[in-house]
Amino acid sequence: MMASENNSLIHRSDYQPLAYLITDIALDVRLDPENTEVTARLHLQRQSPEPASALHLDGEGLELLEIRRDGQSLPETGYAVDGSGLTLFQPEQDFVLETRVRIHPAANLALSGLYHAGGHFLTQCEAEGFRRITYYQDRPDCLARFTVTLHAPQKTCPVLLANGNCVAQGNDPQGFHWARWEDPYPKPSYLFAMVAGDLAAMRDTFTTQSGRQVALEIYVAERDLNACSQAMDSLKRAMRWDEVVYGREYDLDRYMIVATDSFNMGAMENKGLNIFNAKYVLASPETATDTDYQGIESVIAHEYFHNWTGNRVTLRDWFQLSLKEGLTVFRDQEFSADMNSRGVQRIGDVRRLRAAQFPEDAGPLAHPVRPDAYSEINNFYTATVYEKGAELVRMLHTLLGKEGFRRGTDLYFERHDGHAVTIEDFVEAMEDANHADLSRFRTWYAQAGTPLVKAHGVYDPKAHTYTLTLSQSTPPTPGQPLKEPVPIPVRVALINTQGEKAALDISGAREKVLVLEEATRTWTFQNMPDPVIPSLLRGFSAPVRLENPLDDQSRSFLACVDDDPFNRWESIQELALKSILAGVQNPGTVQTLPSALERALSATLQDGAMDPAFRAELLSLPSEDYVGEQMAVIAVDAIHQARDALLSIIGNHFHGEWLNLYHDLAAVYERDGLSIGRRRLRNMALSYLVYSDRHRADDMTLHARQQYVQADNMTDRLAAFQLLVQHPLHDAEDILMDFYQKWQDHPLVIDKWFAIQAMAPRADALRHVQYLLVHPAFDWKVPNRVRAVLGAFTMNHTVFHAADGSGYAFFAEQIRRLDDINPQTAARLATPLSRWQRYDEVRQKAMTQALQKLAAKPHLSRDLAEVIQRAYPGAA
Ligand SMILES: [Zn+2]
Repeated sequence: MMASENNSLIHRSDYQPLAYLITDIALDVRLDPENTEVTARLHLQRQSPEPASALHLDGEGLELLEIRRDGQSLPETGYAVDGSGLTLFQPEQDFVLETRVRIHPAANLALSGLYHAGGHFLTQCEAEGFRRITYYQDRPDCLARFTVTLHAPQKTCPVLLANGNCVAQGNDPQGFHWARWEDPYPKPSYLFAMVAGDLAAMRDTFTTQSGRQVALEIYVAERDLNACSQAMDSLKRAMRWDEVVYGREYDLDRYMIVATDSFNMGAMENKGLNIFNAKYVLASPETATDTDYQGIESVIAHEYFHNWTGNRVTLRDWFQLSLKEGLTVFRDQEFSADMNSRGVQRIGDVRRLRAAQFPEDAGPLAHPVRPDAYSEINNFYTATVYEKGAELVRMLHTLLGKEGFRRGTDLYFERHDGHAVTIEDFVEAMEDANHADLSRFRTWYAQAGTPLVKAHGVYDPKAHTYTLTLSQSTPPTPGQPLKEPVPIPVRVALINTQGEKAALDISGAREKVLVLEEATRTWTFQNMPDPVIPSLLRGFSAPVRLENPLDDQSRSFLACVDDDPFNRWESIQELALKSILAGVQNPGTVQTLPSALERALSATLQDGAMDPAFRAELLSLPSEDYVGEQMAVIAVDAIHQARDALLSIIGNHFHGEWLNLYHDLAAVYERDGLSIGRRRLRNMALSYLVYSDRHRADDMTLHARQQYVQADNMTDRLAAFQLLVQHPLHDAEDILMDFYQKWQDHPLVIDKWFAIQAMAPRADALRHVQYLLVHPAFDWKVPNRVRAVLGAFTMNHTVFHAADGSGYAFFAEQIRRLDDINPQTAARLATPLSRWQRYDEVRQKAMTQALQKLAAKPHLSRDLAEVIQRAYPGAA
């Protein structure tokens, strides 16, 4: 491969402590879009007793203008500069190094380091962006106190921000001004941030549990000031929650959030100065859906929670990424569960895990939650590190109990505050606080792959016993052919014929966590006078695949009576999945609604007392991706047809019920949880109606058009818009035009307009996506826009996976182009091609050809090279 020269692997086992500490860094930055000058003064202290022959500082794309050691200009023999940084020869024990470099923010399209976009200067330093700003030991265990002085023209950049507290400001000659910021907490460079631009602030305050007042500021473009209240309210709720649930208080006097349209990720937890993708800040009922509002609540909380899990206790090295991400995702999931419906939140968490992490764990990009090696760390911001990492923390919470878990986190913060630590340190704190032995649990962090748990239950009517046997196995993953058993907490209840939970032991407990530590184990429950149905893995108590061989009747029964929301939902999913798979096996045959599924859906439709958001979850079908996951070879077209057919059958069968729901749930827009659930359910009713048979559907399309026109909020408008644009039988060109004209000045709304079209399985879909890429509003430099088209396109299954390979070839062309602009985003978007082994031979060939074509690209980035290399070693 072209990039093999810089494609070397970094191994966890190679970790070396720092030879030098950097105690303080003072940055002086003269901002200019074309040529920014950065002067850095580093105070270095040698740690090792032996003198070092050389000291390497990371640096990328920096133009060195000046270098001084202890105030003296350094001769050229005293240092060397190459593509990876600056090497100092014969460094003293303690010294001050001063460098002045030039960088080019406007040309920085990778959006890593300092960049200039949308008229603002912004930074993104995680994971390794700081080395694109100045020469530094750019690794998370290098903790230093930062002082930053920003200079910029007053006119274009009235606002100058960095981490910590603003300690001084003033005017420079020629219309420039400056501001100096000090962060009292030593931090790694990945948490550094600075921002400059013409920004307006929404301000508020928060009083901490100890009575300190914190200034809260959200910086946005002036016209977006009225769209920040959800973000501000979420921030205050998160701050309170972390005090109540974890005893964690905010530490600085100021907490700032800046929103931008140009951002590679969701948001970044820079100390005291979060930088956010605008998608997770801005919302008004006219422009944002209920899902957007919930996304803001959870991402604002996530980044805030990092202040303790990530910032105050940080990472020793990037292999420990899940130490901050898994723990913080768990914390934000629990926060959202407390703020909203716990059952609905859990279903959503599991759906995301299964959609993104299970496939990753089953493919060539599989890696442990704590990886052993990487080439480009940007490629490890994965569902495994985040979502599976959160599931491991959740299992610890289950195994140790709520109080035990809190004892563990208290000890973890007490021991490690202000330090850069490892996952091992976290697990040890959990052990020590609870006198627990988690030695076998550690396997979860080291071993990739999703365990399969098989259940077998026998009821003995004579002995009145129920015997449950659970066994586990984990399929091999790249580099790990043999797997060990892991301790799997399986939450269990046994449900009798009256729909009640049977007592599981003499204490009368009706629910238990069984821990399956070995390959197979059997449990026997006594005193069971009646037959029981096992409700296993309640609340999805472990990130595993479960085979629980129940008949349809039992599943239908659980779907109606199980008091565990997750398992109730799962029972209906299983029934629907079975029905779709039957349709895949016998394509074209007329399906009828299986009676077990019919009963479960009917009971849900009739239960008007149930939380509408949960009801909507129960009535939704498994995604095409999830169905595909269950097949040895993913039958793209057959799955799409079978799922649409089932939608239509359910639409017809319950036509009257859907119609009643649709009319009964109509309401004026409100933002409370109940109203959100009602909207969700009503829009689900509309979608079943539109998918019902042709005669009725035409009529329902009129309803959808009406809803599109009359909606007083984006949730309802977009639901109707999506149905009209994506339904294969209806022409919606006029609606497309109308939507664009109305919202063209709202980038986040136009992202939705692009994405919904890119996902539409229309006859001319590929041509249409090509048209989207040349649309005047399309911009290769804005990641949100690129994801809206190319990311959405990969979810347009029948088109992306077209049997003639046209979708793959087209997609690879675009990734090639994107790699020259934004390698990080290109690599992330390319991952669907890594799943080529899951498809038939014809598609496999086309997908590997696309990968090969990418591998042959000149100037292939390290990011994309690594993904291709792991996805298809044969492409080299
Ligand atoms: Zn995070």
